[in-house]
Amino acid sequence: MIHVTCDLCGQMIEEPKNHYRVEIEIFAMEQNSPMVEEDLDQDNLEHIAMLISDPDTIEPLPALTKAKYDLCPKCTERFQRNPLSREADSSVNFSNN
Ligand SMILES: [Zn+2]
Repeated sequence: MIHVTCDLCGQMIEEPKNHYRVEIEIFAMEQNSPMVEEDLDQDNLEHIAMLISDPDTIEPLPALTKAKYDLCPKCTERFQRNPLSREADSSVNFSNN
């Protein structure tokens, strides 16, 4: 029997129905999105031409990053509500005074 532990809270996940998988993929949009008409405007073409003519200006391309996490139901729910772990701001209200 395979035992899986939650990657967030470390709790043992004993039943497959309690086992959730989160997959995160990070990639640069420039490399993977199909070219749209907006990309073809003159400024952009000039920019691309500049990049091609001067290789020194090309920054290293970020590597494709994939990550997989095993989560328990509790952590899955928390992740779904706040996938980027942003601070909850509902309790903080700046006044104008
Ligand atoms: Zn968990």
